[in-house]
Amino acid sequence: MSQAVSTLRIAEKAPRERFRAYTQRHLAELPKLASLSAAQRFEIEVVANVLPFRVNRYVAEQLIDWNRVPDDPLFRLVFPQREMLDPEDFAAMADLLRKRSSAVEISALANRIRAGLNPHPADQARLNSPELDGRTLDGVQHKYDETVLYFPARGQVCHSYCTFCFRWAQFIGDRNLRFASSRPDRLARYLRKNPQVSDLLVTGGDPMVMLAHHLESYIQPLLAPELEHVQTIRIGTKSLTFWPQRYVTDPDAPELLRLFERWVRAGKHVAIMAHYNHWRELDTPIAREAIRKIRGTGATIRSQGPLLRRINDDSNVWSRLWNEQVRLGIVPYYMFVERDTGAKQYFEVPLARGWQIYRDAMQQVSGLGRTVRGPSMSTSPGKVEIQGVSEVCGEKVFVLRFIQGRNSDWVQRPFYARYDERATWLDELKPAFGAPEFFFEPEFRQMTS
Ligand SMILES: *Cc1c(COP(=O)(O)O)cnc(C)c1O
Ligand code: SF4
Repeated sequence: MSQAVSTLRIAEKAPRERFRAYTQRHLAELPKLASLSAAQRFEIEVVANVLPFRVNRYVAEQLIDWNRVPDDPLFRLVFPQREMLDPEDFAAMADLLRKRSSAVEISALANRIRAGLNPHPADQARLNSPELDGRTLDGVQHKYDETVLYFPARGQVCHSYCTFCFRWAQFIGDRNLRFASSRPDRLARYLRKNPQVSDLLVTGGDPMVMLAHHLESYIQPLLAPELEHVQTIRIGTKSLTFWPQRYVTDPDAPELLRLFERWVRAGKHVAIMAHYNHWRELDTPIAREAIRKIRGTGATIRSQGPLLRRINDDSNVWSRLWNEQVRLGIVPYYMFVERDTGAKQYFEVPLARGWQIYRDAMQQVSGLGRTVRGPSMSTSPGKVEIQGVSEVCGEKVFVLRFIQGRNSDWVQRPFYARYDERATWLDELKPAFGAPEFFFEPEFRQMTS
């Protein structure tokens, strides 16, 4: 009886609870932070005035191991660290806060620092916006023929924020940098005119912050019979880590699961693209229960996430993550290279080392875990995978391929870059064999000029 009552109470509290998160203004209220020194707390505050910071109670209380802070990977996943800013920028912000400067001064400095952190990597805003009837289709990106990205306006926040987020510009209130759509009817018209599109990828932020009936209102128009060619609905989310309650105890969890079931019955492949960085995210009973509930609807779960120094730059972390995912029925899908934005210098792992980690991890999983591709760079020309390191005609090279290309003709064609132990991104690589440029560059220049 008392058990039932307390479950009920949690369920009633859930809608507010799910957004009860601590931001830089409420740092002092986070009980667990008391275990840190005043200097550590101040460092968090300084960086949180520049990069987005938000952590909810589930992450703070159940995922982070406070005995291992600051080295705990899940602490580093959401809590800003001093080294994430350039030392000069850090000192300047620390100085303003110590002097109790005005909010105007603080935000002016924050904006100046942010502008230097490449807020829009890979030209997303400029190059990938499709048009409908001569007007930009807001909240939609279309880069690769068969997949359209959709950013529903209500799904452009997350339950907590990752310190390495590549979409961080959306979370700092700069509306010019925001992609968002509240017009599913316009998207439906666009899809009707583009029969080559087989996949709709709903993304954010995190679409799973939405109530089930909001999510339904965005997706319902896309189930129309004329859109039969859109066979897959993917949902990019970190909710399985940040708020697994979404599928278990939230008041509208049953409604949400019925929605997935309905889409599956309507003939769609419903693919939850779950963002994971560490096997510890899979370790709580509620995270496992959420996975069971989703799988019970007929939806599939695939996993993807970036390789990050100080969080998961260890092949044992990845092999354990992939093995555990296979056990739970999740299909490992992508290992990404940390993108060239935000606190990149804090997280970056050289491509050569990233490939080594991937390879060592692959050797420790069965064929069912070797579905994962990577390490893959999401660059402006396309997704470029490091396939390996080899020696050709006496020259040590990276073997690369496009997994996705702005021109689908580039896909799956091997190409070569001079081996470079320190390079961390495609723009730092030089073509091998003395070639003046990579094979795709002339065409890419033409597409983007
Ligand atoms: C990764 C990505 C996709 C999906 O690519 P898949 O290889 O099909 O998973 C689609 N659009 C953009 C812009 C992407 O970055
Ligand atoms: S879940 Fe994704 S969009 Fe949200 S903060 Fe993390 S990386 Fe950014």
